[in-house]
Amino acid sequence: MIIAILIIKYKPAYKVILGGEDLGYIENKKEFEKIIDENILNKQGENIAFVTINKDLQYEFAFIDDENETNEQEIINKVELASTTTYTSYAITINGENKEYVSSKEEAENLVEEMKKQYEEKLQCEIGIVKVYTENPEDWKTDTIEIAKTNINNQLEDKLQEKIKIEESTVNGVLLASQPVTGIISSRYGDRESRSSGHGGLDIAAPLGTKIYACGDGTIVQAGPYGGYGNLVIIDHGNGVQTYYGHCSKIYVKKGQTVKSGENIAAVGSTGDSTGPHLHLEIRINGTRINPQKYFYKNK
Ligand SMILES: [Zn+2]
Repeated sequence: MIIAILIIKYKPAYKVILGGEDLGYIENKKEFEKIIDENILNKQGENIAFVTINKDLQYEFAFIDDENETNEQEIINKVELASTTTYTSYAITINGENKEYVSSKEEAENLVEEMKKQYEEKLQCEIGIVKVYTENPEDWKTDTIEIAKTNINNQLEDKLQEKIKIEESTVNGVLLASQPVTGIISSRYGDRESRSSGHGGLDIAAPLGTKIYACGDGTIVQAGPYGGYGNLVIIDHGNGVQTYYGHCSKIYVKKGQTVKSGENIAAVGSTGDSTGPHLHLEIRINGTRINPQKYFYKNK
């Protein structure tokens, strides 16, 4: 009699416990596990690498009241909420640094191949692909291949322009990147006007007192009057490279002092053999004067 009541009133079930929390009851454990497996752990979708359930999933055998409804779907939803999906994407790298993300390996390979052809040799940089895992689908979904391509291309182009600029501003291994003064070219290197030998420097006319900046890093080896140069500053940049700044009205540096590229070292004047305020600029390599317009005021 008692057994009969038990059979009518109670049915076997499993209590589902997730991370210590009772979620409710299911009737068929095998069926439930199959659903978890198919719908959560082996979920199919774009770029899904794997899914993990972050909490411990446990089952407890129980007899439940026949009237007591099981809530399988609700439990599945809760388990899904406690799961993390990890996606794969492909990072385009420049010198080992992740720069852009795309969703497919094929897209990444095509892009990298194209960029390598254009830039790898010129820039001597390494362009590659790294497979990356991310829990945030936005990491790869936001970048379409076109955007990634444009961004990578821009970054490489910037690097290339920067490299060219440095190369063009490098004199015998020394970087001379700061234009010394703003003004108008009044006499070019090699001009023979009223001189027996050619003009050994470049004259840039500018108002009296205009700031003169160091062309590059170096040490002051001359800071004072020097014959026809008037007040002369000479900066030694190392590697046999020196720059001369003649006819200054004022000098703000002292012999032996080190200066940085772009530092204000003097002011434009008309001291020495000069007919009006201008900077006489010379660049010398091991004592030989070269045309400053190879480096500054190129198109003037
Ligand atoms: Zn001159």
